[in-house]
Amino acid sequence: MRDIDLEQRYCAPNYAPLDVVLSRGAGVWLWDREGRKYLDGMSAYSAVSLGHGHPRILHALSEQAERLAVVSRAFYSDVLGAFLADLCRLAGMDMALPMNTGAEAVETAIKAARRWGHEVKGISNDTAEIIVAAGNFHGRTTTIISFSSDADYRRGFGPLTPGFRLVPFGDAEALAAAITPRTAAVLLEPIQGENGIIIPPAGYLRKVRQICDWANVLLLLDEIQSGLCRTGKWFAFEHEGIRPDGLMVGKALGGGVLPVSAFLGKREVMNVFTPGSHGSTFGGNCLAAAVGRETLRVMAEEELASRSAALGQYALDRLAAMRSPTLRAVRGRGLWIGIDINPAVIGGKAFCRALMQRGLLTKETHEHTIRFAPPLIISRHDLDWALDRIEDALHWAEKQAA
Ligand SMILES: *Cc1c(COP(=O)(O)O)cnc(C)c1O
Repeated sequence: MRDIDLEQRYCAPNYAPLDVVLSRGAGVWLWDREGRKYLDGMSAYSAVSLGHGHPRILHALSEQAERLAVVSRAFYSDVLGAFLADLCRLAGMDMALPMNTGAEAVETAIKAARRWGHEVKGISNDTAEIIVAAGNFHGRTTTIISFSSDADYRRGFGPLTPGFRLVPFGDAEALAAAITPRTAAVLLEPIQGENGIIIPPAGYLRKVRQICDWANVLLLLDEIQSGLCRTGKWFAFEHEGIRPDGLMVGKALGGGVLPVSAFLGKREVMNVFTPGSHGSTFGGNCLAAAVGRETLRVMAEEELASRSAALGQYALDRLAAMRSPTLRAVRGRGLWIGIDINPAVIGGKAFCRALMQRGLLTKETHEHTIRFAPPLIISRHDLDWALDRIEDALHWAEKQAA
C-alpha cells in the first residue's frame, strides 16, 4: 500500500488507477509487487504493442544510449534521416516532422494545416478552420481540448482556441455540409479509440477523401492509436484503400520504451515549415530515432499486421460466441476490441476489477466499454488464456446480479 499512498499523496489526481502496483514486465506479462502475474490487456493504449522489454528494442536502446542519445536538432545525426526515410516509405508520405508525444504530433498537424490554408490555399491569415468529429480524442493540450466534445476535458481550462468545427463522426454528408471557403483541413481518427473503439460505416473514409479532394481541403488522419499494425494493417486508412495528406503516429512507435511521435505529410504540406517556425528539444533525438527504426523493423519481420488481423478476428469470434447477458456488443479491428458491458449487470470499472482478480489487466472507457488490446506479439495460447478469463468474469457477473 505504501506505493499507492505515495502516489496518491504526491501525484496530482488526474487518473484513478486500479489497485495494483506493477513492478516488472516481460512480453505480454506484468507482475505486481507481491509477484502476482497479469496479462497486459491494454498495452498502455497501444504504446506497448511489441510487449514489455522486447529484446531487440532493448538492444537498440542500450546500443544507441551508449553511443549517442541526445544532441538536439541544432545538428544532424547519423540515425534520424534513416528512421524518417523508413517511416515515410512505410506510410507512403513524403516527409516527417519528429516529435515525442501524440499530442505534440497533433499540434504539429494543426499548425501545418493552418499555415497551408493561408500560404497554399489562400485563406486569409489566421482565419483557417479545421473540421473535427464529435467523440474525438487527440490529446490533452489546451488547443486540442478546445475541440473535444467531452465537456469534462474542457471544463475550467478556457479561454479555448477557436477555429474548429465539430461534425458527427461517420456522417460524410454532414462533413461536406460543414466545409466553407475557410476550411483548411479535416482531422479524424479512422477508428475512434478513446470513444470506445468506434468503427465508422464502411466507405466513410473513402467518401471523406473524395470530399476533401473536391473542396481542396487536407485530410489529416490521427493514427496515434490505430496505426502501426493495431487494426490488422500498418495503418487503418489501408482498410479503405485511401491515403491521407497528413498522418500522425505515436504510441507504438516508441517500441514500448520511449515517447516517439511524428507528423508525416505530402511535401506541399511539410514545406510550410521553415527553420525556426516549429520545433522540439527532444523531437527526433538519436535514442528515439534508433528505437523507432528498430520498432518498424520488428513489426515488419514479426509480421505483426497479419498477426493482429488473424488473432483479432479469432478473439472477436470467440467473444461473439460467449452469448452472455452481460455482453451487450463486441466490435473491433485486429487486436483492438471494445466490449460493451450491460450496465444492468455490472459497471465497467467493477468488471475490470473482476478481470484483474483473474489476472487480466485492462481499463474501461466511457463507463461501460472494456477495451481489450493486448500486445500484438501475443501467442494464440496466451490469447485463449485471456479470453477464458473474460468468459469466467462474465459468468461470475451474471451470478452476482441474479
Ligand atoms: C493517445 C492519443 C493521442 C495523444 O497521445 P499522447 O502521447 O498521450 O499525447 C492522440 N490521438 C489519439 C488517437 C490517441 O489515442
